[in-house]
Amino acid sequence: MRDELLVKEPLLKARLLVDGVRIAESGYEGVGQQFKEQVHHLFEYDFDLHQTRACPAEMRLPGGTVVQVRLNERSPFLIQREGETLRLEEGTHEIATVEWLERPAFYDLKTSVGTPMTSIAELVGEDCIAVSHTNACMLFADGSQCGFCNLNYTPKQYDEVRIKKKAAEVGEVFGAAFNSGVANHFEITGGILPGNREINILEEYLRSIRDATGLTDLPGTAIMTPPADLRDLEKLQRLGIRGLGFNLECFNPAFFRAVCPGKERQIGYETYREALRTAVDIFGAGGRIYSGFVAGVEPMEDLLEGVKELAEEGVASIPLVWSPSSGTRFHRHRPPSAEWYVELAERASALMIRHLRRDVGVPRPVPTRCTGCQTQCLLQDVIQSRIQSLQTLTSIS
Ligand code: SF4
Repeated sequence: MRDELLVKEPLLKARLLVDGVRIAESGYEGVGQQFKEQVHHLFEYDFDLHQTRACPAEMRLPGGTVVQVRLNERSPFLIQREGETLRLEEGTHEIATVEWLERPAFYDLKTSVGTPMTSIAELVGEDCIAVSHTNACMLFADGSQCGFCNLNYTPKQYDEVRIKKKAAEVGEVFGAAFNSGVANHFEITGGILPGNREINILEEYLRSIRDATGLTDLPGTAIMTPPADLRDLEKLQRLGIRGLGFNLECFNPAFFRAVCPGKERQIGYETYREALRTAVDIFGAGGRIYSGFVAGVEPMEDLLEGVKELAEEGVASIPLVWSPSSGTRFHRHRPPSAEWYVELAERASALMIRHLRRDVGVPRPVPTRCTGCQTQCLLQDVIQSRIQSLQTLTSIS
C-alpha cells in the first residue's frame, strides 16, 4: 500500500506546494513542542505571514513523501486533527492522513554563549541541517534583488534568526545535529556580500564543522556566489565539502537578466556558467556541482534545454516549485499548475540520468540531497516513484 501511494504522491506534493494549505486550530496542537516548527533560516515561503504563532515546517504524506508547508488562507486544502490523526481535506473530501515531522532535540539547546540553536540553523526536512551565513543580500540596497527573493524582508517579520552567525557557533549546532544522528547532510548559503567575504566565511565554517563533527569528508554543499578568482574554490574542496551550487535561477539568459538584474550586473550570467564549469573541474561531475532554478518563471522548454546542456557539462539542476510569497517582487503571482511541475520533474530527471557525466560513479541528481530533505523539489520523488512503478511491474510479470 505504501509503495502504491509513493507512485501517486509527486502530483499531490506539487499541488500542496503550488496551492499551499490552510491549517485548522486543531492542526497546530503540539507544533513547537513535539512537532518541528518553521525557523525561516533563509526565506519565508508561506503565502500568509504568521508572526504570532509557530507553523509546522513540513508534512509527511502516507507514502513517505516530505512536503514543505506553505500557509495560504485561500488554499483549497485544509489540515485538521482528529485525536491522533491529521487529516488532509479538499472541500468535503478527505485526501490523505498526514504527519508533521518530529522536532529534533537540538532545537531546545543553546550554544556555549547562550544563543538558541534555532537562531543559527534549521533542520530542513528529515535530515539536512541548513544555515544562511548572512540573512542579507547587498542587491536589496538598490532594488536589484531577484524577483522571487525575500531574504532581507524575512528577518523583519520573524526575529528568530541571527543575521550573521559566527563560525564557532555554527560548528556547535552542526555538531549537535550530526552527533545526535538527526542530520545526515548540510547546506550553507547566504546573500551576496561585497568582495571576497563569502569564501573566507565558508572556509571558517568548514573548519569549525570539521572540528565539531570529527568529519573530514563533509556531506554537504554550499550554494554560493562565484568568487573573483574561481580557483579559490579549490580551498573549499581541500576542506572536504562534497559539492557546490551556483544558482542560475533561470537558464534563458534573457530571463536571467530580467528576473535577477542585480546578479547580472554584479556578476553576470557567463560568470555563473564559468563557475559551474570550473567547479566541475575541481570537484568532479555526476551531480556534485549544481544550479538551482526557480521553476515556473521561464518556459519549460527553455529550462529543459538548460538541464540537458548543464548535464552534458557534469552539472545537475534543481528545479524548485516557485512560491510567490510575501516580500518578493513577484508576491501573489501564480506559479504554473501542479501537472506542469510533475512533467518538468519527470523530463528533467530523465535528462540528467541520461546526460550527466559520470566522473564520480553512478549519477544521481545531486548526491548530497535525498527525498527526505528536498521538500520543495519533485526530482527525487519522481525518480523514486518511477523505480517503484518498475518494481511493481516486475513483480506482476
Ligand atoms: S542573489 Fe538573489 S536570490 Fe540570492 S539572496 Fe540575493 S536577491 Fe536573493
